[in-house]
Formats: sequence, structure tokens, C-alpha cells
Amino acid sequence: MTVEQGKKTFVLKGIGVSPGVVIGKVYRFDPLDAQVSFYKLNDESLIPHEVERFRNALKESTKQLVELQENLKKTKVTEPLYIIDVHVLVLSDKKFINRTIKYIRRLGVNAEWALRMTLDHYKQIFEGVEDVYISGRISDVQYVVQRVLRNLSGEKHETVWDVGYDGVVIVSHDLSPADTAQMKLDKIVGFATDSGGRTSHTAIVARSMELPAVVGLDNVTRFVRTGDDIIVDGTSGLVVVNPYPDMLKRYEEKKRHYDDAKDEYLKYARLPAETMDHYQIGIGSNIEFIEEIPSAITHGAEHIGLYRTEFLYIYRDDLPSEEDHFNNYRQVVDEKNLAWATIRTFDLGGDKFTKYQKKDKELNPQMGLRAIRFCLKEIEIFKTQLRAIWRVSALGRVKILFPMISGIEEIREAKRLLEETRRELLEEGVTIADRMEIGAMIEVPAAAVIADQLAQEVDYFSIGTNDLIQYTLAIDRSNERVTYLYEPLHPAVLRLIKTVVDQAHHANIRVAMCGEMAGDPLCCLILLGMQLDEMSMNHLAIPRIKRILQQSTLSESRELLMKAMSFNNALEVRAYVQNYMNERFPDEFQKKET
Ligand code: PEP
Ligand code: MG
Repeated sequence: MTVEQGKKTFVLKGIGVSPGVVIGKVYRFDPLDAQVSFYKLNDESLIPHEVERFRNALKESTKQLVELQENLKKTKVTEPLYIIDVHVLVLSDKKFINRTIKYIRRLGVNAEWALRMTLDHYKQIFEGVEDVYISGRISDVQYVVQRVLRNLSGEKHETVWDVGYDGVVIVSHDLSPADTAQMKLDKIVGFATDSGGRTSHTAIVARSMELPAVVGLDNVTRFVRTGDDIIVDGTSGLVVVNPYPDMLKRYEEKKRHYDDAKDEYLKYARLPAETMDHYQIGIGSNIEFIEEIPSAITHGAEHIGLYRTEFLYIYRDDLPSEEDHFNNYRQVVDEKNLAWATIRTFDLGGDKFTKYQKKDKELNPQMGLRAIRFCLKEIEIFKTQLRAIWRVSALGRVKILFPMISGIEEIREAKRLLEETRRELLEEGVTIADRMEIGAMIEVPAAAVIADQLAQEVDYFSIGTNDLIQYTLAIDRSNERVTYLYEPLHPAVLRLIKTVVDQAHHANIRVAMCGEMAGDPLCCLILLGMQLDEMSMNHLAIPRIKRILQQSTLSESRELLMKAMSFNNALEVRAYVQNYMNERFPDEFQKKET
């Protein structure tokens, strides 16, 4: 690739959420940025023509959306299809159309202006609605208006379908499911966005498609234009716009190195994570969508250690029915290459909200009505999911996992409802498994502290370090301003994890970890030293973790852990562990960052 002369070079740092290096061309995606003109019609005779122009633009917009839908059906991304249905419905909505025509006729303004007024009218209505789901629908109306405006202006509605090159890096402020729905995904090689975090929609789509992505770049959209050259390094979180030739060369090398290493690492993926002194850790994958399963298996997942089922609620208009849950879960459970599937009951609230959810705007949602707390309030919604999980238990090995348990009462109440649904199903003559393993996520410090008591209530623990660290160190995990304090190797975090593992083993139950820490190569030997039974992670991290485990011994990791836990501050722990890992795995940890 050659770089055009005279373009300005920028290097930006964000959060790498999907690893790998990609070099491509920018497609600047900006759904709400159209250049339109507004004017008065100076002759009444122009009105019928203006109405006609508006109707034609509606027709054209509908045609484009239907085409888009057809194209999308050919790709593997099917989740956001219904969003296009909603947009098509808006386009044929009589009130929407008649109001706009009324503005054209009564005020003698051009169709663009009339349409803007219609949008303003809906904005006013939606703003007054308390229900966040309904008020959030204004974005659909906005999206549709934007498309019609473009068609009115005669501007070609250029989408990723139309750009003449392959190797497209999408650069956007943020991406919603509606946005990704209109993209030609097989042209896309990477993502870079201003906002977002590890669990934002862009991050999830990128990981499930194995495309490098950097989010949280603040203002990358200000620095790029469609057609610019761009490097996205999803491993280090760096983005380079219009790189100098020598930078480009270095990154081409880095990309080659990464791609080769990726193939090389897949060798380790196929083997179990057994240390040289024969300690074996079960390795699972965390998934958000069933579409991730094939890639999880290729990358060496032996089971699903965390299925984040809340995504079933997030991307839809209504509540999923028992049948929706069942049909979805059976696809995980049916997978013969996986030993079991851990289905976590939905964790809504915090930073994930459904569209239907009537949420009072909580000042601090991470500490609000989230996960199991929400489930125990919305019992009917919860029981619908529990029934479906029981039903799939008849088809294969399923473990149920309850999120954000903070006390014994919560786990008992969750178990009571699980038992209630079991009885109901049996009375209805539905076939279910005789028993299902029940787990508690340990992600609230209180749960870690009473791990000995909780261990009496469940069959296994799964440590959720993403939240455990957030709550232990009082750092909002979605607030970029405090991410520098987010430290898995903080002595307090290590002590809590050790307590949980020891208490679980003391009570003879298994203990897994499913937080991001489990997929962090730097922490790998520390966790081995803790003697976790299973580790579940983002599937792209599995080959590296397996390789480290296969080339280590339990005894060295126990020594490393003991030493690391003798320090009284996080900086020293990190420095010590980093040094050890640098020497032990130089090719993994001493690679030069470009
Ligand atoms: C965690 O908190 O570590 C976890 C795995 O759950 P989530 O990231 O879905 O909150
Ligand atoms: Mg969590």
C-alpha cells in the first residue's frame, strides 16, 4: 500500500478491544450528518411537485432498506435485521407522512424543511416520555429522516456497500446495531470509534468477527476522512491515520508477525491446558452471541464458561419469550464439541439496559438495580428464562450461573425460584434434567468475604473479576477517567481471589474465573498459582493462555504467587510479575511495541 503525500499524520490512543493489526482505508460513518438545504417555495404551484418529491424520496428510501435487508440476509450477521423492519415501518407511517405533507402545503416550505419540522415534533413528544425505551426510539426516526433527506438532496447515499475498495476500516463516533446492520460486513477489516468500552456493541461485533478494533478514542472522527489510510492496532489500542512510510512498514511487519503468531498459537489451542507437572485447568469461552461458538471452538474452548444472556434482551423490541430463550440456548447446548454450557441468567442494569426496561434514571447504575437484584424484582421475566434453561438441560450439560450475588438470601431466593420452575415443568410433563449444577458469580467483595458460607449453597463459583475489581477498588469500570486505577494485581484483589478459591476447595466445590483477568497473559501464572479449576475468557485470548499454561509448572506459579502476595502495593506486584513473565516468556512479553 502506498500513502498519499501531503496528508496529515495522527497517532491516537484508545482501548484495544479486539486484537490484531489491520491496515486499510477509512470509511467515515456518520449517520446523522447530511448537507441539506432549506427554502421557502415562492410559488404555490410548486407544492404538488414538492409533495411528489417527498413521496419519491420515501419510496427510494424504502427500496434501499429492503435491498439492504436482502444483502444482510446473505451474511452471518442477522441480529439487527428487525431494526430495519422498524425503519421501514416508520417510512410508511401515515402520521409521519401526513404531517410532513401538511407542513409543505400549509407553510410552503421545501420537503427537507418540512421533514426536519416533523422530526422536531417527534423529538418533543419523545423527550417527554419517561419510558427510556420509547424515548430512545427517536433515534430510529432520526435515522429514517436522515436517509430520506439524503435521497431528497439527490446525494448518493453512499454506504460501505458502495465504496470502491475492500479493506474498509469503519471510523465512527459510535456504532449501534442499526448502524452495523447497514454495513457490508465482508468488506470491513477493522473498527475505530470515539466512544465505547470493552462491552460496547462495536467491541462485541469486532470480537465475534475477529476484526481488530480500538474504541474510546475520543475524537478520531475529527481527524479522518473517507479514503484516508489508517492502521488499527487492536492489541495496543493505537490508531495511526495517514502513516508515514516507515511507520507503515513497521506495522506491515507487525501485522505479519501477528498473523503468523496467530496461526502458530492455534497449535496450542487444540491441546488441553495442562502444565508440565500435570495440573490441568479447564478452558472455557465467554460468549455474548451464539454466532461466536464456531470461532470459540477453533480457538480451543472446551466449554462455554459464561454465556451473557442479557444480549438476548438488549437487541429487540419486546421481551424474549420462553421459546425464544429455548431456541437460542439449544444451539449452545447442542454443540457436541463443548463439554458444557454455563448459562448466566441475565445481567441487566449497570451498563446494559434493555429497551423495554422502565428504568428510573439511577445515579449510580453499577450499584443499582442490576443482575440478580433486578431478576428478584421482576420474577415473571426471570422465571421465563429459568424455565427455558431447565428445558435445555434435557438436551445436554448445562450449568446455571447467578450474577452479582452479594448475600446468602439472594442465592437462596434464586434457588427457590429455580426449584419452583422445576416443579411447574414436571407437573406440566415437560422433560428436564434430574439436576443442574448451580453456580454463584463472585463479583461483589461481600460475596468473596463470605465465600465459605456461599459455598454451602452452590455447586461451583465463578469469579467475575471485571466487577470484583470495580467494586473492590471503587472504580467505575465504564469510566475512562479512572481506568488507570483498575488493577487486577492489586494486593486486595489477589487476597479476595485467593480467599474465594481456598474456600471453594475447602468446601469441595469447583471454582472458575470468567472475568477479563482470566484472559490476560500477564496474570496467567498468578491464577495458576491460585489453583483455579477453570478459566473462561474472550475466545481470542485462549491460545496464548493455553500456551503459557502448557509451558509452566504449578510449583513455579505457586512460588510466584507467594512472592507477589508478599508485596504491599500494586506497583511492586506488577513490576515483579512483569519481570518474571518477561524472562520466562520473552517472545510473548518482550515484543517491541511499534
Ligand atoms: C465480570 O464481572 O467479571 C463478568 C464476567 O461479568 P460481566 O463482565 O458480564 O459483568
Ligand atoms: Mg459481572
